[in-house]
Amino acid sequence: MARRQLRIFGDPILRQRAIEVEDFDGSLRKLVEDMSDTMIEENGAGLAAPQIGVGLRVFVYGVDDEEDEDNMSIRHIVNPVLIEQSVEEIEDVEGCLSIPGLRYDLLRPRRIVAQGFNMHGEPITIEGTERVARALAHETDHLDGILFVDRLDEERRKEALREIRLLILDGENVMVKESPHS
Ligand SMILES: [Zn+2]
Repeated sequence: MARRQLRIFGDPILRQRAIEVEDFDGSLRKLVEDMSDTMIEENGAGLAAPQIGVGLRVFVYGVDDEEDEDNMSIRHIVNPVLIEQSVEEIEDVEGCLSIPGLRYDLLRPRRIVAQGFNMHGEPITIEGTERVARALAHETDHLDGILFVDRLDEERRKEALREIRLLILDGENVMVKESPHS
C-alpha cells in the first residue's frame, strides 16, 4: 500500500504534456499500483500520473458503466490514444482530485474508444460509454496538461476559477504561495 502525495491545481506538472512510456518494467507496475492505491484512498474515479507528480502517459480509473459498485475493478492504460469519440455528448457532474471541492456539470462524448497498452506492454482497447467515456476523456486530458475546468464555457470557467481561488489557493492545500505584500 503506497499512497502518493496528490498534486493540486497550481502545480506546474498538471499543465505539462506527459511523455510516452517506453519501458514496461517493474517501476511502471509499481507506478500503476501506487496510483491505484492513491485513487482508492482519495475516493477518486480516476487518476493520471501527473497528479502524483509523474510526467508519464498513464492513468487508472475505477468507474463502470454498470452500477455494480461492489464489483468494480480498477483498470489502467498506458500511452492511451482516443481513436473514436462520439459526436453525441452528454452532460454530467465532474470533479477532479487535483481540484478538491469543486464539481461542475460538463459535456463529454457519450462514447469513446481508447487504444493503448497495459503495464506489461500488451496492446489493449477500451470502449466506454457514459461514465467510462467521461473518465477516459478526463484522464487523457490530464496527460495533455488540460484540466476539466478548461472545458467549461466562458462564464462557468470564470466562476470555477473564482471558486478555486477560494477553495485551494487561499485554503490549506496551498501549492502556489503568493504573498499579498509582494
Ligand atoms: Zn482530474
